[in-house]
Amino acid sequence: MADAPPSPTTTPEEVLRAAKQMLADGLVEGTSGNISGRLPDGLVCLSPSSVAYDTMTLDDLVIVDLDGSVVSGERSPTTEKDLHLGALRRYPELGAVIHTHAVYATMFALAHEPIPAVIEEVVVYVGGDVPCCEYKGTGTADLGDEVAAHLADRGAALLANHGLVTCAGTPAKALHIAALVERTAKIVWGARAMGATIHPLPEKVNRDMAGVYRYIRENP
Ligand SMILES: [Zn+2]
Repeated sequence: MADAPPSPTTTPEEVLRAAKQMLADGLVEGTSGNISGRLPDGLVCLSPSSVAYDTMTLDDLVIVDLDGSVVSGERSPTTEKDLHLGALRRYPELGAVIHTHAVYATMFALAHEPIPAVIEEVVVYVGGDVPCCEYKGTGTADLGDEVAAHLADRGAALLANHGLVTCAGTPAKALHIAALVERTAKIVWGARAMGATIHPLPEKVNRDMAGVYRYIRENP
């Protein structure tokens, strides 16, 4: 059997850039949401707790090991660190996790309803419908486990009554998925508001494109 490819890695600069971009894209506001990136030495760069994105600097980021112990940084890591570490521990092919409170995606999270993969690029970049996890308290290890289980074959999952988590090889790719999922949630919501019948993609297209997702994920 061939060795698994090395895990994708990133830099604190890329984590900071994506953190500021998710604010600019309207996916978070204030200090809500958080982001992580796997570093070349196997440690993880996390956004801090309670620091506004617009004034955040590299010095505000926190470096932790995969168990969540702080290795360097003056700040406390995000209180939702288990969301990130649960996925990064479990899936070596992932290099970044992003958690947002985007409005339309969160509407589906309130309804405990998956966002249907009715647009081709969602199947390619997410792997299929965006599932909704069972409700677990914010910041708990239980929530981290619940989310990680749903990310086995998906690039995104909804947190019941809370928001969205996305994952990919790099912060920029995880951010792209977060924006794509939010846009899709808005489109589906709008189509339903029109009273439209939403038609699923043909089953073969779903199967083939989910295979493309799998390939992209395993070859980051
Ligand atoms: Zn949150």
